[in-house]
Amino acid sequence: RHSAQVDGLTQASNRAHFTACAQQAFKDHDSRVSLVLMDMDFFKRINDTYGHATGDWVLKSVCDTVKAQLRKTDSLGRLGGEEFAICLPQFTEDEVRAVAERCRLAIAAIDTRPSGFHFALTASFGIATRDIGGPLSFEETLAAADKALYLSKNEGRNRVTVYH
Ligand code: GH3
Ligand code: MG
Ligand code: MG
Repeated sequence: RHSAQVDGLTQASNRAHFTACAQQAFKDHDSRVSLVLMDMDFFKRINDTYGHATGDWVLKSVCDTVKAQLRKTDSLGRLGGEEFAICLPQFTEDEVRAVAERCRLAIAAIDTRPSGFHFALTASFGIATRDIGGPLSFEETLAAADKALYLSKNEGRNRVTVYH
């Protein structure tokens, strides 16, 4: 069951398992539920400059760093490549923004020297929330978070954008 649900490299949930957990959270219409999308900035350049093994080291370190900022009930999933999602139930928009901001700062503070190379590391974030009793499905909320992430990328990366 573990290998069917967990990404072997990062130990985050894989896409299918994350989606199942998040869809479960969306079924509780008495609770607010937020999705945070996170995508590493210029990750291809890290692979190209320092090698794929260093890229893998980054993905693992980033997941450990983000997990340390989350509650046990929050789920972190690797949607693919260097893109991750967090499902945060029962938080206000300000609280979700604060979590994402803490993750952003913690990633930027990762000391990459144990990888053998010293370089800067940043990620961009997009947030969308389904309000209590709100009409949005998991898929619609994910699409909204993706639009917010796109804005973060376009406006210079290493930032958090909330969808409105
Ligand atoms: P942007 O800031 O716009 O997001 O640029 P980017 O370079 O991060 O985005 P792009 O999608 O061009 O590059 C993603 C790279 O992630 C390309 C791919 O080779 C790499 N990648 C995907 N999965 C893995 C993996 O498991 N390990 C490593 N090392 N690299 C991976
Ligand atoms: Mg990227
Ligand atoms: Mg990407």
